Amino acid sequence: MIHYDICIIGAGAAGLSAGIAAAEHGRSVLIIDKNKKAGMKLYATGNGRCNIANSHMAFCCYYDNSFACELLGETPYLDVISFMEKLGVKCYSKNGYYYPCSNQASTVVWALLDRLRSLNTDFLQNTMIDDIVRDSKGYRLFKNNKEIASSDKLILCCGGLSAPALGAPSEEDMFKIYSSLKLKVNVPSPMLCPIITKEDMTKISGVRVNARVSINKIHLSGIEHKGHDISSKKIPETIDHDSIIAEEGEVQFTDYGLSGIVIFNMSYYDFDKIYIDILPEMSEEELSESLKIFRENNSSRSIHAILNGFINDKMAEYIIIRYLEKSPKESISSLSDDEISILSSAIKKLSFTFDRLYGYQHSQATKGGISTDSVNINNMSVKNEHGLFAAGEALDVQGKCGGYNLMWAFLSGLRAGEAAAKDI
Ligand SMILES: Cc1cc2nc3c(=O)[nH]c(=O)nc-3n(C[C@H](O)[C@H](O)[C@H](O)COP(=O)(O)OP(=O)(O)OC[C@H]3O[C@@H](n4cnc5c(N)ncnc54)[C@H](O)[C@@H]3O)c2cc1C
Repeated sequence: MIHYDICIIGAGAAGLSAGIAAAEHGRSVLIIDKNKKAGMKLYATGNGRCNIANSHMAFCCYYDNSFACELLGETPYLDVISFMEKLGVKCYSKNGYYYPCSNQASTVVWALLDRLRSLNTDFLQNTMIDDIVRDSKGYRLFKNNKEIASSDKLILCCGGLSAPALGAPSEEDMFKIYSSLKLKVNVPSPMLCPIITKEDMTKISGVRVNARVSINKIHLSGIEHKGHDISSKKIPETIDHDSIIAEEGEVQFTDYGLSGIVIFNMSYYDFDKIYIDILPEMSEEELSESLKIFRENNSSRSIHAILNGFINDKMAEYIIIRYLEKSPKESISSLSDDEISILSSAIKKLSFTFDRLYGYQHSQATKGGISTDSVNINNMSVKNEHGLFAAGEALDVQGKCGGYNLMWAFLSGLRAGEAAAKDI
């Protein structure tokens, strides 16, 4: 069994980047992954196009995580583009979202792997590490009680629990190695995923609208730890009404609830109601006034037909039945001023009740993981654990949709790999 300078657990964006940085500093490197293929998740990113970075950078892109923002700085996308250029991957931007020019995620995976092979990095696939022992020589890695490899330094790039179909480990498996190292880990839950609502959505399933979505963020006394596909949340004990979070984008209504990027981004927060303004172009007053004018001038048309002039027809029918309990076929002239106000308010603040998240199998990122409090930002080393490093989604860092998670994985991986190599 070869003893390496550096072992890396995880052959994803973070692990492969860490491997390149470490091997470029002349270290012997072994990358281990439980999957048959390296970069399994990377192949699926950005609908197969790999949204590797984003030029828009703000605190909120990482849910106000100061650790991530400090490490990445103001223009992290330039660092990712430069890393890709060195690997021979040309990138282009569409509205600030960066992709490889080939529009193929495989281009990025192959370039990372070719660079690693040229640096004589070793790989061990199909190998799930389930125990780690620290001794005076470094780290000894085990699978089913059999020692697989050992190294002076160890970099944990184990990712999160999202997308088990792409090889993500179970929570139990993940915790086995974290507890063997006594790491401080924050409770995981799925995020960047659809939301299941309590309302019956079948009548509006398939509708897509450009909307302004808002929630009242809730401070929970503690999130129930289910540890399975579908996570649920505890009843809120305190509600901070100042914490309104809002974002505009496309919302997709499905038979189980809500989906779309803006909903994915909201899935990070704890809330019990989600409000959807399906006509952000008009104020509630303008809408009310317009409906009153139509009531005067088009009195023979149905409520449904008039609302359809403003919003999707399935949605118009749903709102009339849900909020007025009237037949959509009734004439607009039958509406009172109060009923017009109810309709206008419903269109501007269509509300749905949170039931649960759609689960890890439909989520693109995991909330929780190794606490950033236990990691040194300058080199990604775990505090008070000589020779142990962590990077990527294994840490409790989450970005919004749009290239932020890969940007974090690549750059934190490079930093950890370089630091581990120099530290030897
Ligand atoms: C469908 C989908 C699309 C996405 N699209 C985008 C996008 O376009 N842009 C973006 O920025 N982000 C996207 N993301 C999120 C992004 O892919 C991840 O945040 C990022 O890939 C994380 O990289 P990582 O290296 O930290 O972890 P991962 O890529 O998850 O790699 C971790 C690896 O560690 C291995 N592993 C874990 N534990 C062990 C163990 N004990 N022993 C051996 N191996 C182990 C796992 O098998 C896995 O291969 C997407 C995610 C999904 C699921």
